[in-house]
Amino acid sequence: MRLLVKGAGIAGLTAAFELAARGAAVTVVEARHGLGGNASWMAGGMLAPWCESESAEQPVLDLGRDAADWWDAVLPGHITRAGTLVLAMPRDTGELDRFASRTSDHRPVDEDEIALLEPDLAGRFRRGLFFPGEAHLDPRRAMAALHEKLAGNGVEFRFGVDARHMRGFDREIDCMGMASSDERLRGVRGEMLILRTLDISLSRPVRLLHPRLPLYLAPRANHHFMAGATMVESLSTEPVTVRAMMELLNAAYSVHPAFGEAAIVETGVGIRPAFSDNLPRVEAHGRTVAINGLYRHGFLLAPAMARRAADLVFDSDKPVEPADETDGQRRSA
Ligand SMILES: Cc1cc2nc3c(=O)[nH]c(=O)nc-3n(C[C@H](O)[C@H](O)[C@H](O)COP(=O)(O)OP(=O)(O)OC[C@H]3O[C@@H](n4cnc5c(N)ncnc54)[C@H](O)[C@@H]3O)c2cc1C
Repeated sequence: MRLLVKGAGIAGLTAAFELAARGAAVTVVEARHGLGGNASWMAGGMLAPWCESESAEQPVLDLGRDAADWWDAVLPGHITRAGTLVLAMPRDTGELDRFASRTSDHRPVDEDEIALLEPDLAGRFRRGLFFPGEAHLDPRRAMAALHEKLAGNGVEFRFGVDARHMRGFDREIDCMGMASSDERLRGVRGEMLILRTLDISLSRPVRLLHPRLPLYLAPRANHHFMAGATMVESLSTEPVTVRAMMELLNAAYSVHPAFGEAAIVETGVGIRPAFSDNLPRVEAHGRTVAINGLYRHGFLLAPAMARRAADLVFDSDKPVEPADETDGQRRSA
């Protein structure tokens, strides 16, 4: 079976993997000239289903629970399984109680345990929450490694080509994110920074709770940290605003003043594709299967969505529920 995957974001790359693994001849066509610049490239790389359930519905936890295992099996060595540390400034510790009450699979940590987990944060926070089952990866390294692995396994990649003009495939997998023609999608702008400092080390993502502006720092190799991310209902890809920059830097500085001396090596903006309920969808419509709406959970949910898409492609006779009452022709998994 000859399959066209449209888009080489994380939805497209994971779909290509699952489809090729089941024996399809897969071509991935990406409009950009390389892997960078899309929403996936800007992600924090947190695989944090329990933390995310603070604001996400149950399916995000159910679909994301095994994501770290998938990434570990497909790209050994790319996953760090060190959990997530959630902290709040003394004036905001009520936020910790609220966060704890809305999530599971965590334990409270005091000043001593925070110092054991993250020695550079010793003495800075009195209380926190630790989510030991969570993991993280570097999205850019993971995407590059997945691309290399797929190409090595015979998946064809064509960059700088508009996939909408491609013909001659048995089925198409639409992974074009915000560029998909699905009118139900909305964009949620996320602004992020990459900082570099030798003065502090973190072993895991640290989330800093705040009544209005919860933010996080995700450690990367070579003393880099991703600081993210804003959530703005907007399709604007204009550069990072002064307000966002101030909020992100304030949060980093609150976690540790050493970030005051860090270099800002990159600012970035990504548009998260989302449906109105913030849940992902895999839908079949004619010869096309679409994966979209990964919202703020692309790396967490893409493995499960890719498996569902492959099920739909290879098991077309399987009866599936209509996506919603308004379009009986769409089939979803
Ligand atoms: C700041 C930020 C932080 C985030 N942090 C996390 C996190 O920590 N953990 C997590 O799990 N998720 C995170 N996310 C969410 C995650 O990044 C998204 O859910 C995910 O990237 C969506 O992936 P996608 O493949 O659907 O879309 P995209 O990554 O946007 O990919 C779509 C691709 O389709 C291509 N395309 C469009 N039109 C065409 C065409 N006509 N022909 C060919 N190709 C085309 C685009 O160029 C693009 O490469 C974050 C997002 C942002 C913005």
